[in-house]
Amino acid sequence: MPEHVSAPIVELRGVSKSYAGHTALENFSLEVRGGEFLTLLGPSGSGKTTILRLVAGFDQPQAGQIFIEGRDASALPPYQRNVNTVFQHYALFPHLTVFENVSFGLQQKKAPRADLRQRVKSVLEVVDLPGKAERDPNQLSGGEKQRVALARAVVLEPAVLLLDEPLGALDEKLRRQMQVELKRLHERLKITFIFVTHDQEEALVMADRVAVLNRGRLEQVGPAEEIYARPRTRFVADFMGVENFFEAKLAGKENSAFRFETKSSLSLWASNSGGLAEGSAAILAVRPEALRLAGHPTNPAACNQFEGEVVESHYEGGSERWVIQLATGERLVVRRVNVPETQIEGIRRGSKGLVSWDPARTLVFPQ
Ligand code: ADP
Ligand code: MG
Repeated sequence: MPEHVSAPIVELRGVSKSYAGHTALENFSLEVRGGEFLTLLGPSGSGKTTILRLVAGFDQPQAGQIFIEGRDASALPPYQRNVNTVFQHYALFPHLTVFENVSFGLQQKKAPRADLRQRVKSVLEVVDLPGKAERDPNQLSGGEKQRVALARAVVLEPAVLLLDEPLGALDEKLRRQMQVELKRLHERLKITFIFVTHDQEEALVMADRVAVLNRGRLEQVGPAEEIYARPRTRFVADFMGVENFFEAKLAGKENSAFRFETKSSLSLWASNSGGLAEGSAAILAVRPEALRLAGHPTNPAACNQFEGEVVESHYEGGSERWVIQLATGERLVVRRVNVPETQIEGIRRGSKGLVSWDPARTLVFPQ
């Protein structure tokens, strides 16, 4: 966590918002710390844009409070909140030059002319657009337009920058580049970023902390590594790319590992119990890349080792992916990543294979 991160700068307390009887946010609470890069991650319709609109003051909650810089912001109109928004569709003024687009907000605030020129100039340097000040937006690429939109938002020096899927319209390569640039911009400006995305990879790459949303509720919030490695709910695990799920009951502890049993009588092992009592129902899960597949079954007696038939086999440029059907009915997805061309396993459909994984990689959730 960067050292300039401190007290909460935005706080939502028990916020609820519905539109015509449809709940968009329900009793939602979240603290955003001053200076951090927080990402709101969730599928389409989970309430991400609603949160930004409430923080920006474009909309009012039906219940709960929103604090900005320690003050209850409920009564403040958008222009009195020290917050600015960048949207996915950059909405630049097409008939104004880059300079005029960026200086627009400063002009509204009646900034002195010399000061305005200086601030626009320096912010165009920050977003790497010097020399483009006199262009029209239609003479710019998608990436450049998005930089102008960023410049327009940060030139007003808000305490908090709200970014609603700002990279969504860019192609893959440019998106990756802009992700890195946005992070650098955040480090340089030292202002708080609340960044919205539905893309888990983007969230992990960029954020100090990630807040995962599901149907207007907060599922989990924490450092990116924690959300990835220790998802607390099935929803978060699923969203973060975990693919193998099992319903099972905790059978007991044996030799310092926990044994779970499925309805089909498979024994699955985990190094933690997920805080569950013996006999409780659980969901177990394992990432495809935590599983190993061996073409020649050797020792199916050891824990978390299962023999099955390879029913799908794909080479995905740098990774291999298999689906293994067990005799008990379960299907396991195995993924081998960063495979050098010379070391492709090439285990074929129709062959027998042995799947195994380390009990420490088993995730356990209450059912
Ligand atoms: P996200 O940004 O995560 O895709 P939104 O915050 O836009 O989600 O929407 C959350 C829910 O609220 C969705 O089900 C959406 O249809 C609904 N919603 C959002 N804005 C409005 C609106 N102005 N009128 C009616 N329903 C809305
Ligand atoms: Mg949205």
